[in-house]
Amino acid sequence: MAGVAFKGVSKIFGKDVKAVNDLNLEVKDQEFMVLVGPSGCGKTTALRMIAGLEEASLGDIMIGEVRVNDVPPKDRDIAMVFQNYALYPHMNVYDNIAFGLRLRELKGFFWQLANASEAKRIKEDIDNRVKEAARMLDIEKYLTRRPKELSGGQRQRVALARAIVRKPKVFLMDEPLSNLDAKLRVQTRYELISLHRKLGITTVYVTHDQVEAMTMGQRMAIMKDGVLQQCDKPEEVYSHPANKFVAGFIGSPPMNFLDAVIKDGRVDAGAFSLPLPSGHPAIAMNGQRVTLGIRPEELFDKALPTNVPATPDNTLKAVVDVMEPLGHEYVAYLQVNGAKLVASIDKETKLRPGSEAEILINLDRIHIFDADTEQAVR
Ligand code: ATP
Repeated sequence: MAGVAFKGVSKIFGKDVKAVNDLNLEVKDQEFMVLVGPSGCGKTTALRMIAGLEEASLGDIMIGEVRVNDVPPKDRDIAMVFQNYALYPHMNVYDNIAFGLRLRELKGFFWQLANASEAKRIKEDIDNRVKEAARMLDIEKYLTRRPKELSGGQRQRVALARAIVRKPKVFLMDEPLSNLDAKLRVQTRYELISLHRKLGITTVYVTHDQVEAMTMGQRMAIMKDGVLQQCDKPEEVYSHPANKFVAGFIGSPPMNFLDAVIKDGRVDAGAFSLPLPSGHPAIAMNGQRVTLGIRPEELFDKALPTNVPATPDNTLKAVVDVMEPLGHEYVAYLQVNGAKLVASIDKETKLRPGSEAEILINLDRIHIFDADTEQAVR
């Protein structure tokens, strides 16, 4: 097994499309790393460079201790799982899973004739590995079916089985769940995590879905316009986003952003002003423009029990515009002195559209971003 590293890697298409821009990222041995970002941010290109399907324009791509820039894809010891499963339609499930192994291990027909006993041993080994992978992914009963006789979820499992029988050093997965319906996606997400725990194979997983990234990644690397924005554990990225882009991309509903100014130890958003937590570095930015960020889940209905003590400084008077019921909570669209805020409010709330509300803010969890650089001030 092995880790993967990008060292100063760029990929330039044509004259000036910088799909990946000076990427430095280390995926540790046995780690599950998610590359996440909006469409076009360069995550697939980064993955394809590990696989050798795309050449790096600059920099080094390492698998383990080996620089693989010049190693052909078939010799990189990686297995890829794509969004479209790319199964062979004329082969049954067993043969689909075994195909790559047969190609690799059994070599040519004449070799098999000349080495009949060795070929028999390899065939038995392949048979064991196919059955073991099928058992792990719970598709043993479909081994004789063709892909067209399977559901989308079952096909995706065959694609996964085909990848794991190879026992590669590294798994590369490009949006492997996006063809599945919502329920199956959640289930397969869980299965992939369990599989990773069992096999411990270094995995690089690409998705545009921040929920997948948060729930699956041991660490996540967030990209924008080919540039790595932050790489850390999901809870760390959520609690301490490096910049406004990451703060807005991670979390649902997205973080509220308000233009504000630092004034005498407070952050003044016009519609309301909040004291900065003591020792906050933004206190030293007196007079400077900033962006105030407040996560919807750090706003509370004062009428309900919360752990956030109410003070005059953290209580806002709001009018409720819209309440969207999600079952376990409401997404409340609020107006505070003309400023719009979105809040995630517990399902027990009595607030309804048109209600006047008192809303508490958890002041310890507000975020301040430099208005020009958009970097977090912390
Ligand atoms: P998506 O989620 O939509 O697949 P992505 O984050 O994976 O997006 P990439 O597919 O890596 O993004 O593309 C990054 C950028 O490089 C995009 O601007 C894309 O248009 C460009 N690009 C990708 N492949 C090529 C190519 N073969 N030729 C020219 N430009 C390309």
